[in-house]
Amino acid sequence: MAADGPQPGTAGGLGRLRGTRKAREPLEIAPNVFEIVLGRVRVHLIAEETLTLIDSGLPGSAASIDRAIAAIGRASSDLRRIVCTHAHFDHAGGAAEIAARGDVEVLMHAADLASVQTTLADVARRPGRRLFVALTPQLERATPLADDDLIPALGGLRVVHVPGHTAGSICLYAPANGLLFVGDALQARLGKVGFASRLYSDDWQAACRAVTRLAALDVAAIVFAHYPVWRDDPNLLLRRLADEANLLDRRAYGEGTR
Ligand SMILES: [Zn+2]
Ligand SMILES: [Zn+2]
Repeated sequence: MAADGPQPGTAGGLGRLRGTRKAREPLEIAPNVFEIVLGRVRVHLIAEETLTLIDSGLPGSAASIDRAIAAIGRASSDLRRIVCTHAHFDHAGGAAEIAARGDVEVLMHAADLASVQTTLADVARRPGRRLFVALTPQLERATPLADDDLIPALGGLRVVHVPGHTAGSICLYAPANGLLFVGDALQARLGKVGFASRLYSDDWQAACRAVTRLAALDVAAIVFAHYPVWRDDPNLLLRRLADEANLLDRRAYGEGTR
């Protein structure tokens, strides 16, 4: 989860758990990369010889994703992999349903893959943010990802592990076109790019610290999971956020030793 409230133009609220029925026309945000808006959630489709999906929306999103794939003139049977930026139900919720159809590999960082095992009974025993993974349908099989892994899409899509929002949160970086898919590792509430949501993050300090890794990349556009693509000098913006994160870290350390 990331967005802290309903956003303009969408009907969703936090209580909305099923995928939306209506999907807007997919938007080509870079050659062969399409943004599919599913209510409050945005998933991304890389259309090459085969199709790669980044995040899968809420449980029940498969039909909307199918329609979006058809809208760009492709077949859902071309979909070969789903890469989940993390295990929260608005990102990994649709994966099980789509993967159950056959030849689709689901990839997720190992730390979050472990958390998908969380059940509602576990949450009842110890309530908290784990609800956001307990609502993610369990996966029959999935491939664990690790930092620096390369996914065969866009000439090599690099996994950048940014633990904090969840332990296994990842960003996906494509050096070929400079796209950085951030999942919920960053947000852009009210048109301002900032750290992951404090409310919905497991370890907010860690989430801030992890942004320093992103500042080392050469980024042309930040691709969010809940907000429109950001193209306004992303490198400068990431460096500023990294400086801010370092400052926060020093402050936290200072408080801890006093
Ligand atoms: Zn989210
Ligand atoms: Zn999240």
